[in-house]
Amino acid sequence: MTEPLHQLYRELGYQFDQSSLLQRALTHRSADESNNERLEFLGDAILGFVIADALYRNYRDANEGQLSRLRARLVKKESLAAIARKLGLGSYLNLGAGELRSGGHARDSILADALEALFAAVYLDSGYQSARNLILKLYHERIDGLSAAMQEKDPKTRLQEYLQSRKVALPDYTILAVSGEQHDQHFDVACQVAELDLITQGSGSSRRKAEQKAAADMLELLLE
Ligand code: MN
Repeated sequence: MTEPLHQLYRELGYQFDQSSLLQRALTHRSADESNNERLEFLGDAILGFVIADALYRNYRDANEGQLSRLRARLVKKESLAAIARKLGLGSYLNLGAGELRSGGHARDSILADALEALFAAVYLDSGYQSARNLILKLYHERIDGLSAAMQEKDPKTRLQEYLQSRKVALPDYTILAVSGEQHDQHFDVACQVAELDLITQGSGSSRRKAEQKAAADMLELLLE
């Protein structure tokens, strides 16, 4: 430990009863046999559940695929590592000599795993509600940032507003293909934000529906 733990308690807004759980969560496998690997396994599942629950409640219009992609984005290594950095978690980690020398304190995978382990440690220390509260507190801005842009209005309108608010030129929608009989047509449409070099595709039974899907995917890309 290079930093006193009370500082971390303050950052987390959580005080451990069993500080041994916290110690273990902060211990990389390079440092000790008693390390955070099993906690990471559990924390990964807890985090996935809490985020899935929050997304399900917040995004009433999102389908299963969109929900999965949003969750994947929120729980991926890079996102976890960014949150861990904000907490200053790196300076509390116990690492073996090799990892210390090679800058393990700053490595995304080590930070992300330690944060997952920390969620499990809180869960074991005082239960699901505490773990959930901590996760939602740390993810608050990310989830809110998504929901402000995702909740109301149709995707094309939201995308337009999002781009305008960032002074980015509006997207171009192009029909890529139309297939099927007159009464049963299928449209493939591209949505391009040239300024950001981004392009997404959508398909549907009308041009409008296809454009809305392409716009929804573009929003997801931009909100990363
Ligand atoms: Mn992990």
